Amino acid sequence: MTIPDTLRAASVQLGVASDTPRLDAELLMAHALGLSRNDLLLRQRDLTVPPGFAALIARRLAGEPIAYIIGYRDFWTISLAVTPDVLIPRPDSETLIEAAVTHFVGRAPQSILDLGTGSGALLLAGLSEWPDAHGLGIDASPGALAVAQGNAERLGLADRATFHLGDWALGIEGPFDLILINPPYIARSATLAGDVLHEPDSALFAGAEGLDDYRRIAPDLPRLIAPGGMAAIEIGYDQKDAVSTLLAEAGLRVRALQDLAGHDRCLVATWPSS
Ligand code: GLN
Repeated sequence: MTIPDTLRAASVQLGVASDTPRLDAELLMAHALGLSRNDLLLRQRDLTVPPGFAALIARRLAGEPIAYIIGYRDFWTISLAVTPDVLIPRPDSETLIEAAVTHFVGRAPQSILDLGTGSGALLLAGLSEWPDAHGLGIDASPGALAVAQGNAERLGLADRATFHLGDWALGIEGPFDLILINPPYIARSATLAGDVLHEPDSALFAGAEGLDDYRRIAPDLPRLIAPGGMAAIEIGYDQKDAVSTLLAEAGLRVRALQDLAGHDRCLVATWPSS
C-alpha cells in the first residue's frame, strides 16, 4: 500500500481509540520514518511505509497516548520530550503563559518559579519567552526532573534553568517575578478514561476534592511573589471559588481567566497593591 492509502486506512482504524485519528496516523507515520509531519506530508508520494508502522498503530489502539509513543509534545512555541514520568502538556495550560505575557507588558520577569514542573513545560515556555530570565523548577518526582533537565538542554535553556527535587514551596527562598503552577487537582473519586489513564497519578490526583495541593501551596505564595509580580495557577473548571478563597485568605488579589473552551482554567494572584 502507498503511504496516502495507509494513512487513510490507519485513521479509520484509530477512530475507536482517538479523537484525532488522522493527525495521530500522520504523527506515527512521521515518527516511523524519522521525519517531521511537514516533511512526511510533502514527501509521502515518494516514500514507502516503514516496517515499524503497524506496531505503532497497535500501541495507539491499545490506548497509549500519542505523545508517549512519539516521545514529544508541542507546547506554546517549544517542543518537549515527554515520558510516562510526566503529565503530557496540554493546550489549556498555555492559558498560564498567556496570563503572564499579558501581565508583563513593557517589562520582563527576571526570575521564574515553576512548582510541579513535570516536563518543564511552563518554566521552559517562560524562559523561551523572556531571554533574560532565570528560573527554578521544582518537582517531587526524580523521573520528572530528569525529563525537565533534558528538555532544558535540548532547547538551549539549561544555563538559565535549575531543577530541584522538592515538596512544593518548602524551603524555597524567593521572591520571584513570575510563579507558574499546574498542581494535581482531580478529586480522588473521579473516574478517568482514555489517555489520562497512562499519565502519572501523582500529577493528577489531589485528595477528596482535588484541593489538597492548593491548600499546601497558597500560604507560601505571598512571600514568594515579588512586588509587581504574579502567580498563575491552573485550576479545574469548577474550582475557581474554592481556590480563589484559599488565595484571598493568604492575602492575595485574585482574578480568573478562561481557556479556549471557555472554562475557568487559570487564577492570577498578585499583591493587593500591584
Ligand atoms: N487538565 C488535566 C486533565 O484534566 C489535569 C491536570 C492536573 O491535574 N493538573 O486531565
